[in-house]
Amino acid sequence: MVMAHSAPTAARVTLTAPISGYLISIDQVPDPVFAEKMVGDGISIDPTSEVLCAPCAGEVIQLHPANHAITLKTAEGIEILMHIGLDTVMLKGEGFRPIVGVGDRVQVGDRLIEFDADAVALNAKSLLTQVVITNMERVSELSLQTGSVTVAQNPVLEVLVEGHVPGTTANGKTEADDDEIVVSEPITIPNPTGLHARPAAVLSTMAKQYTSTIHLQRGDTQANARSVTSIMGLQVEHGDRVTLVAKGADAKAAITALSEAVSAGLGEESAVAIALPASIAQSELKAPPPRPKSDDPDTILGVAASPGLAVGHIQHVRQVDIRVTETATDAEQEKHRLQQAIAQATLEVESLRASIHGHGNPGKAAIFAAHQELLDDPALLEMAMSAIAKGKSAEFAWKQTYHSQAAHLAGLQNELLAQRANDLRDVGMRVLRLLTGADVETHRYPLKTILVAEDLTPSDMAALEHSNVIGFCTLAGGATSHVAILARAMGMPAIAGAEPRIMELANNIPVILDGTKGTLRLNVSPEELRDVKQQIEQQIAKQDADLRHAFNPAITTDGHRVEVVANIAKIKDAEDAISLGGEGVGLLRSEFVFMDRTAAPSEDEQTGIYRSILEVLGRDRPMVLRTLDIGGDKPLPYLSMPREENPFLGERGIRLQLDQPELFRTQLRAILRASTVGTLRVMFPMIGRVEELQMAKTMLEEERQKLGVAPIEVGIMVEVPSAAVMAEQFAKEVDFFSIGTNDLTQYTLAMDRGHPKLAPYVDALHPAVLRLINLAVQGAGRYGKWVGVCGGIAGDPQAVPLLIGLGVKELSVSVPLIPSIKAQVRELSLAHCQKLAGQAIALETAAEVRALYALPNN
Ligand code: PEP
Ligand code: MG
Repeated sequence: MVMAHSAPTAARVTLTAPISGYLISIDQVPDPVFAEKMVGDGISIDPTSEVLCAPCAGEVIQLHPANHAITLKTAEGIEILMHIGLDTVMLKGEGFRPIVGVGDRVQVGDRLIEFDADAVALNAKSLLTQVVITNMERVSELSLQTGSVTVAQNPVLEVLVEGHVPGTTANGKTEADDDEIVVSEPITIPNPTGLHARPAAVLSTMAKQYTSTIHLQRGDTQANARSVTSIMGLQVEHGDRVTLVAKGADAKAAITALSEAVSAGLGEESAVAIALPASIAQSELKAPPPRPKSDDPDTILGVAASPGLAVGHIQHVRQVDIRVTETATDAEQEKHRLQQAIAQATLEVESLRASIHGHGNPGKAAIFAAHQELLDDPALLEMAMSAIAKGKSAEFAWKQTYHSQAAHLAGLQNELLAQRANDLRDVGMRVLRLLTGADVETHRYPLKTILVAEDLTPSDMAALEHSNVIGFCTLAGGATSHVAILARAMGMPAIAGAEPRIMELANNIPVILDGTKGTLRLNVSPEELRDVKQQIEQQIAKQDADLRHAFNPAITTDGHRVEVVANIAKIKDAEDAISLGGEGVGLLRSEFVFMDRTAAPSEDEQTGIYRSILEVLGRDRPMVLRTLDIGGDKPLPYLSMPREENPFLGERGIRLQLDQPELFRTQLRAILRASTVGTLRVMFPMIGRVEELQMAKTMLEEERQKLGVAPIEVGIMVEVPSAAVMAEQFAKEVDFFSIGTNDLTQYTLAMDRGHPKLAPYVDALHPAVLRLINLAVQGAGRYGKWVGVCGGIAGDPQAVPLLIGLGVKELSVSVPLIPSIKAQVRELSLAHCQKLAGQAIALETAAEVRALYALPNN
């Protein structure tokens, strides 16, 4: 079988049978890791002999500590992994005897590993032995043999290595420079209690900054250096000697930096101070600050986690437990079930993360990013798999694994890791629910419940969104904890890190929760209650008034009209937007039509969805439909997208669409076909170059002519700084601009919009962003085109006057904000907004801009 075209300068390497037996195609191997060629391409052998021999000359570059797998590297630079049996890692070396070690040079036919075939066959899933090339990028052609083979006699694979010059690589480097294995000097662990979770977290975060695979080795055992749980599992004690082993393009740099950090104690106080990676600030690693304690028995103190006042009654949270059966008979089936559940949980988390993307909630998005990371943790999976191999059911093995790991993390006096324990419980529960099919009961709490809990997970909180809960108070967490971020996103007052006595409060007692001050008041006097209720009533009265006037247009006191429209994802949002006075849709994020499914929607399906939304809106309410904006932090599981170093700077939005023209044209046809039932405008995301826009427009026009429908208005998202800077050139080509301040801010300030620590600085009111908005409006104005804003800032009361003052005509906001933003516009004058905007763009910092609007006389 020939896999690819050959190249004239290629070198040919023949791999001779490393063992006698019968050849089997790799995709027939009953293990997806091999069958799906995740490790590489090659062949499998059903063995009839008991010694694994070298299939060619080369150097031993890897010998697994369990002695069941070995990798050779040839002079041509190809790496051949030979793996005896399936799941034989579980045998922990039992039945295997290595004859060579890492660094040994071998010739074809040299003995590598002896094994006891009977013992291995009895205790492992299969004896099938895989021979795979792990660096297939070096291979231009692979010919596979079939039938029976005899060790060291018959060829099994012919490999053509493209453009090979012996001893060198294409760029002239010696092959040893390429993906070499770099091993550190032995390091003695200085940490008094060894590599427990805290230094492990530091090491894994550092390791993740490199592309190379990195292992920490103690004696014969290795741990994946990217996994906290795996490092902890190595049980490295004070005084132990370890080495770091890295393989990959940046292996040297990784070993230099990590050896230094490990020798210096990975940031533990007892060790010499080291420069920690920027992603882990010292403040994050130190023990939590002492809990506030009040002298007043009627005031419980906590950290102000989410502002606002609530008057209600205490209810302690009711914990949900899912019961599981301990044992199972078919370990293979259980492993498969666990993998499926983890894959499904990953999809759920991915879509949760994507659904909050862009709603001004970088912290919330980061929470789910952390969950994705935990679902990916190889060590957790390995622990659960090993319990399954011992006869446990998938649910029992998983529950035991995540409970024990979470308990371990929680037991450490460290805020960062305690928070991870909470995350682990949350994703753990998600997988368990999927495995058992259990419906996690959503409790109905009485009206006006103020929930008290040791801690709440993000999923607990999502379930509370529409219940009777009006605020909460937790023992765990601080102002930056996930609970706090989510409470703010839900607009609910909350305090976190409260005094432990909250756990002793009786259910149903009346309290006042002040999320702004961080207090929970007990035994409140009638006067205090009256005051607080009055404040709450004023807020509610304002909301009611806004709602009553929601259908009035948003016209400033000096007669300037601003359109207030909605950002939506689905038909229900359009219905809600209309009921709240929305004047149309300024942004339909069409990627939601593509999410939560296993294949892209067909043209007909898309046409149906777009049409039904337009029908809800009617012809008088226009809709801006943004074409698929995928990439960055919004992946689509069924679209093959290469892993990118910087996905936000990679094939995102329009770039991906131009790269996958059929997907794009299908969507364009659906948009054009739907356009006949309403007022539909199309908008392209992530436009940074004029050529991209021209190509997209050409495709749109070609499809339009084929369909024979009328032209529709075309606009672009202005969210890449180049589009704002060159607004005049773009304005010639389009009918409108919609400014995506979420991305425009991240690209202007070079700060990831989902970065939890940078979140306070990723502020679209930074003067640099305001200047770009100004440029966009000016550029559009030269050609008589209008400009809207659909980024989160359009719904920020402090930004509204500035945007209007800069000349923005349309504010596209999240649905619940429509009434209050319309009400605010009615209280402003255009002249005043213009004056404010003029001042704002001359300022130096976002804080100054925010302070400007807060001044009483402005
Ligand atoms: C934006 O970037 O401001 C925007 C509205 O697009 P999204 O948040 O969907 O990337
Ligand atoms: Mg965007």
